[in-house]
Amino acid sequence: MKTGFVSAIVAAGLAFTAAAVPSAVCQRATSPVKVDGVLDEEVWRLAKPLSPMRDLEGGKSEFGADIRMAYDDTFLYLSATLPAKTLRATLTKRDSVIYHDDDFEVFIDPSATGRNYLELEINQLNTVWDLFLTAPYGRPFNEALHDWDIKGLRTAVTLQGTLNDGEGDDTSWTVEIAWPWESITGHSSLPRRGSPPPPGTVMRMNFSRVDHVDGVERNTVWAPTRLKTIHAPEHWGRVRISANPVGTPERPDPTVGLWVHGNDASVTAKSVGAWADAGVTTLIVDGSPDGIARVSKLGKAAGMRTVAWFWTLNRPGDREALAHPQWYATSAQGKSCHDPTNRPFVSYYQFLCPSNPEVREHLKRKALEIAAIPEVDALQMDYIRMPDVVLPKALWPKYGLDMSTILPQFDFCYCAGCKARFGREPKATDADWTEWRLNSVAHAANFVADAVRAAGKPCGAAVFPTPRMSAEMVRQDWSRFKLDFAFPMDYASFYGEGCAWILSCVSEARKAVDGNFPIFPGLYLHDFTPAELEAALPRILDANPEGFCLFAHDGLTPERRAALRRVMLKAKAKEPNRPPR
Ligand SMILES: [Zn+2]
Repeated sequence: MKTGFVSAIVAAGLAFTAAAVPSAVCQRATSPVKVDGVLDEEVWRLAKPLSPMRDLEGGKSEFGADIRMAYDDTFLYLSATLPAKTLRATLTKRDSVIYHDDDFEVFIDPSATGRNYLELEINQLNTVWDLFLTAPYGRPFNEALHDWDIKGLRTAVTLQGTLNDGEGDDTSWTVEIAWPWESITGHSSLPRRGSPPPPGTVMRMNFSRVDHVDGVERNTVWAPTRLKTIHAPEHWGRVRISANPVGTPERPDPTVGLWVHGNDASVTAKSVGAWADAGVTTLIVDGSPDGIARVSKLGKAAGMRTVAWFWTLNRPGDREALAHPQWYATSAQGKSCHDPTNRPFVSYYQFLCPSNPEVREHLKRKALEIAAIPEVDALQMDYIRMPDVVLPKALWPKYGLDMSTILPQFDFCYCAGCKARFGREPKATDADWTEWRLNSVAHAANFVADAVRAAGKPCGAAVFPTPRMSAEMVRQDWSRFKLDFAFPMDYASFYGEGCAWILSCVSEARKAVDGNFPIFPGLYLHDFTPAELEAALPRILDANPEGFCLFAHDGLTPERRAALRRVMLKAKAKEPNRPPR
């Protein structure tokens, strides 16, 4: 990485990965675990503790726990150290209502379907209540099977203090659990029933502690449901099974982005859930602020990151901009994009001048409005470029154009402001004039990106396939952009190309940005049959392990979704672990 904006990227990268739904990786135990309530095994030293617990609403809680997990061929191992000033417990009969005492609770939805999940509650006397739920309480098909038992379950509790002395001078209690896979995957729709799920599998899990304070029951959980109940598996944390030995650093999961039209009413919690199950990690949402907020909210509920799609220099129907004709980009023929009879190619091409200071301030205000939507994690600038000086060749016949030389009616921005700032009458063939315009687009991009970052959110851009092509085609040399990420639109059919071309674009773009920010190549879904998609994605991940994006949600048919799911399951299961690049 180049110095300069490294720290900003690191900070922004953290923000980009922050999701409302917590996640964890469960790694393989390499030495035996003796279930005695004493956490002196190597496994417990090496396993990473889960992220801090919260109250059910997601707020801070005065109670917490150090929870860790690992597994082997027979058991899922769990340990919890629970700080407690007063140890107290009375229930000694299995399957009592254990949360009437202070307790520790584990929830597992092995198939991540919200159905057929398991619950285990344990108190300080090591009394357990284990039950099987067909669906959450209060929802259709709910049955809670209280006399169901986890066969072969081993639990142990140790106390760091004195039980029931009421002194308030206790320290903590410790729980150690070996939960046979037989009772977890035996009931699920996962392959390898009765064994650990295949590496890469994501189960939904939650952990809870109940404490009674002055007669009031207090719930502290790992994954806040933001409901009155923990029985909402769709809000539980994601636990990925890893083939790596406990303590191995894990490569972050690849980003799988999906462009979504936020105002499409057919996008529901169900569709978003299906995308998440197929491996989509990030929604890139277009539309009105309301549409962006609605779909982003669905994405957050499914544990995804959300990126709002911001139309930058092309602002069709922007009333505030339309009231300022001098803000608009002007062609080499002196005609302005403000004039409806002079818009290049399509009527929605309403490009603003990138070097106009008022335009930059206007874009900053508009970007910050979108970035302020609470459910939005990051912003993606779209159309951060000039109109197409050169269209992709496959599109020339559509417009009846030969664009092998620069056509003045498509060459922008020759507005009075740009000419004045450039300092002399420009000529289309002058290299320094081209250079000046490349910089003016880059400066506009960086001006907006800086403002969004200052507001605490990362900012990236959807760009043309490589900085070199973008510079030639739309005056967008995005290697000069200071971004947190870029989505190069490698839409092969637009260029009359295929997968090999995508891979060469990826390689060229990676070189050009030189590690300054990650790229997530964008694929046009209609370019691929499901089988072609299944063949192409692993090659793209090999070339760019950070991930990729898919355009757009209406192209993600059930067949392509199934192909994606298989690819991502395999990608995450790859062993041994590759170090991050
Ligand atoms: Zn201009």
